[in-house]
Amino acid sequence: MADKFSWISEEFANLEKQGLRTAIRTIGSPCGAWMVVDGKKVLNFCTNNYLGLANHERLKASAQQAVGVWGVGPAAVRSIAGTLELHRQLEERLARFKGVEDALYVQSGFCANQAAIPAMVGKGDVIFTDRLNHASIIDGCRLSSATIMVYEHCDVTDAERVITENVGKFRRALLITDGVFSMDGDVAPLDQLFELCERHGVMTMVDDAHGEGVLGHGGRGIVDHFGLNGKFDLEIGTLSKAFGVMGGVIAGHKLVVDWVRQKARPFLFSSAVTAADTAACLAAVDLLEQSTELVEKLWENTRYFKEGMRQAGFDTGVSITPITPIMLGDATLAQQFSRRLFESTPGVFAMPIGFPTVPQGKARIRAMISAAHSREDLDTGLEVFAKVGRELGVIG
Ligand SMILES: *Cc1c(COP(=O)(O)O)cnc(C)c1O
Repeated sequence: MADKFSWISEEFANLEKQGLRTAIRTIGSPCGAWMVVDGKKVLNFCTNNYLGLANHERLKASAQQAVGVWGVGPAAVRSIAGTLELHRQLEERLARFKGVEDALYVQSGFCANQAAIPAMVGKGDVIFTDRLNHASIIDGCRLSSATIMVYEHCDVTDAERVITENVGKFRRALLITDGVFSMDGDVAPLDQLFELCERHGVMTMVDDAHGEGVLGHGGRGIVDHFGLNGKFDLEIGTLSKAFGVMGGVIAGHKLVVDWVRQKARPFLFSSAVTAADTAACLAAVDLLEQSTELVEKLWENTRYFKEGMRQAGFDTGVSITPITPIMLGDATLAQQFSRRLFESTPGVFAMPIGFPTVPQGKARIRAMISAAHSREDLDTGLEVFAKVGRELGVIG
């Protein structure tokens, strides 16, 4: 036995030497500005709870009510006996929210990419994909058996070169980009990519996991931000970030979504999302449609926190969204920084991010801003960051 798995011990030793072994923390309270983490109450800058909906009274009430009405599990895949009226309601509401014809609700954003990409392209087809696309896009591309061609990050000129040189050699072509890139917080040049794909007859897909509830009018997402409503062929989203719940969505033209419904393996072979989650998502859409207040608060908090970090002397990278990287370079330093933040009084919870999530030498702390943070929370966060930054010689 020992011999058979010695390679794992060696790999672990390697990871530890490079500061890349992830310690997984355990949460002991609901998701919010402050959370109990490994038994300690700390100020939270780690979660994707952009609008503070993860523990929102209205979402919780909807989920609780749904359990009473529907029970806890559908006990079937969507295509057999798992499609609840609630699922269809949510899909219609999400489609309307995004200004598209139809939407399909699946178990997660990760699943949405596994579902959509292999339904659209296969052997003999080509995918043009941004170098920094999310892991779930990369895996979806691999699952599809299509030829994968990478263009440089957010580089329209390079995308055009790759498309022009190759598009004629394949049956069908699909361009896929993240909307907001989750590690850097920068945004894809969606208008230019769209125009380029239109000219070359390339199908278009954007994954808006970090844009929904954040960008666009009242959080309608990156496509709305660029005024391209209804034009992208496939919009992938998640209900697990700004929406505060769980699940993924594939939205777009009715014809396309109908096709995905026939072909998507996570839809056909993995059970449906629970009624409670679906009802909570419906409440989230209600909230977003009724008021833009939370989205505005998110942006106000984002501007305040970033300005404070810059004034303290930190390098916050190229982000133009609430994702706030604090660039440190060395992975060991990033781990040390995160540990010191956590051990401070009060403790601050912000995760170090290193290879392979970001390239070697680009390690960072990533601070996620939320509408759940009060001004006082942000001031506390800024103070602790500056204290640790000075102690570790990151800022003067
Ligand atoms: C977070 C994320 C996902 C995964 O969403 P889940 O709902 O958590 O599975 C997919 N794509 C992108 C771009 C993401 O940032």
